[in-house]
Amino acid sequence: MSVRVRATREETCEELARAAFDLLVIGGGILGTSVTWMAAQAGLRVAMVDAGDFAGATSSASSKLVHGGLRYLQTGNLRLVAENHRERRALAEDIAPHLVKPLEFVVPIYRGGPHGAAKTGAGVFLYSALSAFGDGVGRLITPHQAVARVPALRTEGLRAAALYGDHQMNDSRVAVMTVRAAVEAGAVVLNHAEVVGLRLSRGVVCGAELRDRVGGTEFGVSARLVLNATGPWVDRLRRMEDPGAAPGIRLSKGAHVVMRRGEPWKAALTTPIDKYRVSFAIPWEDHLLLGTTDEEYDGDPAEVRATEADVDQILAEAGQAVAGLRREDVTYAFAGLRVLPGGPGSTAAAKRETVVTQGPGGMLSVAGGKWTTYRHIGRVVLGTLGRLLGGDELAPVLPAVPLPGLASPDAVAMRLWTDREPGARMDPIVARHLATHYGTLAFDVARLIREDPRLGERVHPGGPDIWAQVVYARDHEWAVTVDDVVRRRTTLTVRGLDTPEVRAEIAKALS
Ligand SMILES: Cc1cc2nc3c(=O)[nH]c(=O)nc-3n(C[C@H](O)[C@H](O)[C@H](O)COP(=O)(O)OP(=O)(O)OC[C@H]3O[C@@H](n4cnc5c(N)ncnc54)[C@H](O)[C@@H]3O)c2cc1C
Repeated sequence: MSVRVRATREETCEELARAAFDLLVIGGGILGTSVTWMAAQAGLRVAMVDAGDFAGATSSASSKLVHGGLRYLQTGNLRLVAENHRERRALAEDIAPHLVKPLEFVVPIYRGGPHGAAKTGAGVFLYSALSAFGDGVGRLITPHQAVARVPALRTEGLRAAALYGDHQMNDSRVAVMTVRAAVEAGAVVLNHAEVVGLRLSRGVVCGAELRDRVGGTEFGVSARLVLNATGPWVDRLRRMEDPGAAPGIRLSKGAHVVMRRGEPWKAALTTPIDKYRVSFAIPWEDHLLLGTTDEEYDGDPAEVRATEADVDQILAEAGQAVAGLRREDVTYAFAGLRVLPGGPGSTAAAKRETVVTQGPGGMLSVAGGKWTTYRHIGRVVLGTLGRLLGGDELAPVLPAVPLPGLASPDAVAMRLWTDREPGARMDPIVARHLATHYGTLAFDVARLIREDPRLGERVHPGGPDIWAQVVYARDHEWAVTVDDVVRRRTTLTVRGLDTPEVRAEIAKALS
């Protein structure tokens, strides 16, 4: 029997309106979700709401890397790299080994490129040293060894290459698993519910007014403390508390494209473009993920898009090292906004650190930082919350709790396959897909097929997502809209398979 972690929307709205919470988290990106999970684990009564879908903004628009950040070496921030590495390894080893996988990265060194071989070799060595060589020793390799890993690598002018290790994930799926972990720890969560105003009592923020974007109703939530974790919208919420609040952040847009690829790649490519910027070409979801751009943005965060010019730039930059990239192979393009501390200088050189501030009404705001360090940021915020709630430090009581579904994906895939009689077996590609995106929760998805064998069919013949995932997303993963399903619970959009027919069928399944 599958565990029901989801109350109905109506039940959730009622509970939000009725209960008095210790903490209301506004924003269900990875930062808000992390704090919600940790605060619930520490025993607080926590609510989290998001105006759109969980991880519907920046947290599903990342480069999907769980990484130390090689290029931060260039800004000299060794402490940040070491901290990122520590969290990367914790995620990959203790928290989500079923969802986060190791990946080798090749840095090609071309004649006339921004960094020479000696400097790049020393850089990857230092990078691996900062994670205590846990992924091997970063080192120089020959062009021949580089091509063996990345078959499409351009070799004209290639003098050498450098090699280092990091990890990758499907950010939307890791986010939804983290929301689930928060709910299992006791949090109450609602997506598609926008905060339209704050509740104030004698000048102190004590909750928020919400509009349910699905049902259209409005209601309030009361809480002793409110956390603004709205990422690119953080200043907008701060102005709800204090209309005169000065801007605390600035935004930089980063776009990516996803492409069909020919031969499989064994490693990813990190191509230096200039002193600070790199172009990633990453094997991901049987495709190539290319990016990213870095450009100051001052428009409405809800309107951020990858433009034709972004796609041109990404293909041109990636094309410096990758042969045979064709525009017609692009299946998806997307953009997100980096939240950087306000201040002068180019966005590419700006430090990617977390900013935590408290407003005059007591609302805490958190922004910036990395997906990779979400637990660390959650702990920092929880430390502040504990002090503000007048209690003890909350974070130290928390053990490293794994995300739901923890297991070896290989074992899960094998069991999904062998669980059926020969002749009725799950396609091994589908079994692997479920195992690496759900861990042991894949058995709950598979159970749905037992109850209704039609749910074992692929949503689109071109990809491994099956109908049981759509039903599971609706009933257990808070999917409300077609985009929730095609973009974030499954891989249909990134593979370019969310055709009008597919979308119409999914809309029917959701209604
Ligand atoms: C291009 C790019 C690439 C990146 N690549 C990586 C990477 O490879 N690895 C890595 O570690 N990090 C990466 N990052 C950083 C990482 O993605 C972010 O640090 C992280 O996603 C920030 O999460 P967040 O929760 O702060 O913001 P968001 O995910 O944007 O969440 C904020 C949420 O607040 C909600 N919200 C806004 N207003 C309201 C309101 N009024 N009421 C209710 N909810 C509201 C929004 O709907 C949104 O869901 C990348 C970032 C970018 C932009």
